[in-house]
Amino acid sequence: MNPKASYSNLNEPAVSGLKSLALSNLGLTTKVALVLLTTNLIAVLATGLLYYQRHQNQLLETVEKHFHSVAQQESQLVNNMLAKSHTHIQLLANQLRLNLDSSSDNAEYKPFQDLDLVKQKLDLFKTTIPEISNVVVMESNGNVLMSTNPALEYFELSNSTREKLQEKSAVVMDLAKKQPQHSSLILTTNLRKQNDEHIILLTETALSELADLVDRHIGLGYTEETMLLYHAADGGAKPIVPLKFTSSPDVHPQINPFNGSISSQMIKRYVDYRGEEVFAISQMVPNTNWALVFKIDTQEALAIVHQQRDFLLLSLVTATLAVFIVAIIFARSLTMPLTKLTQVAQMIAEGNLAKRIQWASNDEIGVLAAAFNSMANKLIRGHEMLDLRVREKTRELAIANENLAKANRDLERITLEDPLTQISNRRAFDQAFHREWKRSSRSSSTLSLLMIDIDHFKQYNDTLGHHAGDDCLIQVASILARICQRDNDLVARYGGEEFVILLPETSNIDCETIATRIVKTFAKERLPHPASPIADHVTVSIGFGTHIPSSTDNATVFFEQIDAALYKAKELGRNQAQPIENQQEILLSQDKRKVKSNIKMFLKD
Ligand code: GH3
Ligand code: MG
Ligand code: MG
Repeated sequence: MNPKASYSNLNEPAVSGLKSLALSNLGLTTKVALVLLTTNLIAVLATGLLYYQRHQNQLLETVEKHFHSVAQQESQLVNNMLAKSHTHIQLLANQLRLNLDSSSDNAEYKPFQDLDLVKQKLDLFKTTIPEISNVVVMESNGNVLMSTNPALEYFELSNSTREKLQEKSAVVMDLAKKQPQHSSLILTTNLRKQNDEHIILLTETALSELADLVDRHIGLGYTEETMLLYHAADGGAKPIVPLKFTSSPDVHPQINPFNGSISSQMIKRYVDYRGEEVFAISQMVPNTNWALVFKIDTQEALAIVHQQRDFLLLSLVTATLAVFIVAIIFARSLTMPLTKLTQVAQMIAEGNLAKRIQWASNDEIGVLAAAFNSMANKLIRGHEMLDLRVREKTRELAIANENLAKANRDLERITLEDPLTQISNRRAFDQAFHREWKRSSRSSSTLSLLMIDIDHFKQYNDTLGHHAGDDCLIQVASILARICQRDNDLVARYGGEEFVILLPETSNIDCETIATRIVKTFAKERLPHPASPIADHVTVSIGFGTHIPSSTDNATVFFEQIDAALYKAKELGRNQAQPIENQQEILLSQDKRKVKSNIKMFLKD
């Protein structure tokens, strides 16, 4: 069922406004289901996203806290190690300075009075402190005076180190480059200035200890890495100990804690030397140009959140499915009565008023259904009432029509009937004459006409009175009507005491027979006419004729011929029938014998 089609004629403007929307084509159930589904999905999505975001932030805070604590520990360890090395070199330097001071008064310059003793001290120092790989006493030009490594004859110091060593008792830190990576930490201090030459003590500590230090903490995951970087002369940051995930010494750490691009305050997200996205913070090592960078892959750091996100997505899909089913069931139960209402409304609109909505509930839909049923009942009652009234009105109309027809018939009768004699009047004759004239013309059939005039009727009136005259006219009409009884015969009062008889499809012989019969009938009837000079009874004169009209013939001419024949009958003594001029000849030639016998019979009578 298409709800739009059922109601399109009920609310056309509203629907036309919505036609552009695809929603208007959807059924009520689908719409309700969609609303429920959308509302639920938005709620679930919003809650999920909020939860996800919050959890991610919390996790980042945890990572940040962890890095802060690791950073403090690590930098402390590095610092301690450096401080320890400082202490060691200063301790040895102080002892060696004593040796130098005691020999300062000698005329001949010798750096040390007892070289064996110094050598013993150096060896002892190296043996006591295992992390020290080498101890050297040298001149500032690089000349090695004494070394725990016998092979070492020359040691090159950087210019900046050499400058810094001018200051008395300063411990200068440097990194010795031994390919492929820095592998030792060099600490130098000035023992004494001798003839513009400095005597320098140098200790070399293996960086492997540092590497162990930065790598040994228990971290958050496998991808966690601590990078120990130093501020290079070109401004960049370079690794002091090997990077965890590469063996190549030339790899750039991709982050520089010395130019402020990363700090110890806030966690930073960047793409590291492996091309992986990482979270990182940095920590400067005090009193050095060193910094520690602590980093972990975002993927690992947020693994739990990602797991939760996947779980959330799964929940979302499950929830969507569940909500979809619930929404469909709920929407159907909600819209079912409305759908039923719509179906029944459509059936009622199509004229099936017997249909009722079977829905009983106490809510608005129940009330609506009851109202609808009662409306249908009222509609049926209204229809019945209307039917009744229509039937009544139809009956009344039929009666009125009948009356009207009767009135019309009466009117027609009045207009076509002679009121005195009750036979057709002149008007009726005129109509019939013209009609029959045309028909005879079409079918080439004979049309006979008789014109009858009562003889000396004026005297009748004068003698017997006008009322008697009227009665006489009635009797004459009755006699004429009795003689001409064929269906198509028409007897009419033409005016005064004149009558006409129209006989369609009647031959001249039959016409003459009828004319003769009329004259004879009046002789038989013997209606008294005391004042008649030709008989003691009422007599009539007749002019008659028969014609086959052609399309060029004039009816008036034929009528005048009949009138002339009547005039002739009057002239010839009345009480007789006279045919029209030409007809008489035709008749004689046609059937002389019959005419003659007729005349004989007439004369006999
Ligand atoms: P003819 O033989 O030449 O026909 O003579 P007639 O007297 O019959 O003819 P005329 O025309 O002289 O007179 C006709 C009379 O018919 C005159 C009139 O009073 C009478 N008449 C005409 N209509 C009526 C009618 O309705 N009632 C009565 N009582 N008389 C009528
Ligand atoms: Mg007359
Ligand atoms: Mg007359």
